[in-house]
Amino acid sequence: MEKITSFTIDHIKLQPGLYVSRKDKIGAETVTTFDLRLTKPNDEPVMNTAEIHTIEHLAATFLRNEPKWKDKVIYFGPMGCRTGFYLLMAGDLASRDVLTLVTDCFRFIRDFRGDVPGASAKDCGNYLDMNLPMANYWGRKYTALLEDIDDSRLVYPE
Ligand SMILES: [Zn+2]
Repeated sequence: MEKITSFTIDHIKLQPGLYVSRKDKIGAETVTTFDLRLTKPNDEPVMNTAEIHTIEHLAATFLRNEPKWKDKVIYFGPMGCRTGFYLLMAGDLASRDVLTLVTDCFRFIRDFRGDVPGASAKDCGNYLDMNLPMANYWGRKYTALLEDIDDSRLVYPE
């Protein structure tokens, strides 16, 4: 089998950031995949599953309620390597187009307190696997990056 595109990115050089990893044409519509990289691959600790799970619940809730963008959100979910998340959006988009959206999303995660939405036996397949304080921590860390970002962290190196 051929090596798929996402394995051809040089992970040794990658820095945390907000990158476009692919654009797929589906009929007349383009779907843009963003890589939200919270940690530097193979260099710093990855996120644990409980905080990834909490971030997933909070981000999905935020993105699907955001008035301007909610109808464009196709998917938000974790990378299997636990270094970041994928965000799939309808439209032919660049990282700067969604920078405010993603920054606001991670501010929401940074500042969230109380009951995590959907964290109940009825709504989730593993509802006890949650870590809100660590989700707040990653929200703080990624927001700080996004608030002071330049093109080197918005566009994958060629
Ligand atoms: Zn869940």
